[in-house]
Amino acid sequence: MKITIFGTGYVGLTQAACLAEVGHTVCCIDIDERRIAQLNQGLSPIYEPGLEALLLSNLSAGRLSFTTDATEAVGFSKVIFIAVGTPPDEDGSADMQYVFAVAHTIAEYSRESKVVINKSTSPVGTAQRIQARIQSALSKQGRDLGVQVVSNPEFLKEGSAVDDCMRPERIIIGIDGEQNIELFREIYKPFSRNHEKLIVMDSRSAELTKYAANCMLATKISFINEMANLAERLGADIEMVRKGIGSDSRIGYDFIYAGCGYGGSCFPKDIQALQRIAGEAGYQPLLLEAVESVNQRQKQKLFDNIRRHYNDDISGKTFAVWGLSFKPNTDDMREAPSRVLLESLWAAGARVRAFDPEAMHEARRIYGEHPGLYLADSKEEALEGAHALVIITEWLNFRVADFGLIRQRLVNRVVFDGRNIFEPEQLVREDLTYYSIGRAVSG
Ligand code: NAD
Repeated sequence: MKITIFGTGYVGLTQAACLAEVGHTVCCIDIDERRIAQLNQGLSPIYEPGLEALLLSNLSAGRLSFTTDATEAVGFSKVIFIAVGTPPDEDGSADMQYVFAVAHTIAEYSRESKVVINKSTSPVGTAQRIQARIQSALSKQGRDLGVQVVSNPEFLKEGSAVDDCMRPERIIIGIDGEQNIELFREIYKPFSRNHEKLIVMDSRSAELTKYAANCMLATKISFINEMANLAERLGADIEMVRKGIGSDSRIGYDFIYAGCGYGGSCFPKDIQALQRIAGEAGYQPLLLEAVESVNQRQKQKLFDNIRRHYNDDISGKTFAVWGLSFKPNTDDMREAPSRVLLESLWAAGARVRAFDPEAMHEARRIYGEHPGLYLADSKEEALEGAHALVIITEWLNFRVADFGLIRQRLVNRVVFDGRNIFEPEQLVREDLTYYSIGRAVSG
């Protein structure tokens, strides 16, 4: 099948590469000319395991193409996916300008009937709004084309996006009116042979499903962080508590790791957007407000521990920071806890020597030549001359550490671990003071 995709970010590009890999022919359009030029050379503008290999093979097989030309992209196919950003507006609601801009482009360049599939995470009622906008634009131009807008929210996770697209746990299709799902069976058959993963519903329920899923996951994280803060005060160990509660099959082990807060382009913005949606519907979402506040406070946790350890005297000190991306296996630093820590340290007069396996270029893009930031070539180099080590992202490569080197290089032999990647006893043996989350300070 021929398919057009608007937006070549984490969602659009991964979706395009996976649809091409299973045999569809995909034309991607983006307004970012540099990105399209890079993609046409087979280079991925984002780090996502396995993505670049899929890009290269499908580009050379002729199943994948990239353009900035709307006439070409809209004319390419009857099936058009929207996968552009819906970032938070100033008041926290989803900024829908990119999605609606695509709707207008589709209306402007369509010369035949279309099925428009919205993958962008969007407020409830968006599919119906897109439909109304396209139809009104078409009728102003005196054109009568059949357009159907469907909601098909995306559930991939950055860091395993290709895998998630290839082996989805569910595919939500939100269709209003006559539910003709044959088209979706055809698009998604390679990923769900017996269509068992397709869950069909109305568009408003599909749109709310996406927010509900992210808010549920964020709730689990804030819940365990709340328990971790309590555990510290009560002399309990959150890692033991996690094992204790995770063994209950009704609770499970996923998403109950205590840490220095969630970040990324989705959870923070989706929690806020759903609060706005609730407010507009005349409902005060008490639980969502609490999830968000707990997370804001948790993102300050590492800085609070550092401040307390140094009795508020951190001006002029240097901190080695391991991990900048909001989670492992991605270069994405949107809403990352690392940003809160870096900015708090700088405001307090401290300096940072940071290392991340994939997010260095992103840090450079965000902070430029910040005088308080040195970007090291390795986790070992980051330690040179630093007073203490702070771990923010649980990259696998950080879990095995040369404690002798850490001890030797750090001026103060202190480790602040925002992800509980080490055992406290281990650090005591290594003569290091160890702050983690939800456990007593050791050493
Ligand atoms: P992104 O910011 O990585 O990419 C968006 C792309 O859209 C950019 O390349 C931008 O240039 C392009 N774009 C903007 N306006 C355009 C237009 N008019 N025409 C063509 N291209 C245009 O975004 P993303 O992370 O891929 O997220 C896209 C949507 O999917 C969001 O609504 C997000 O909430 C949702 N989502 C994201 C994830 C994730 O993990 N990143 C997971 C599930 C759902």
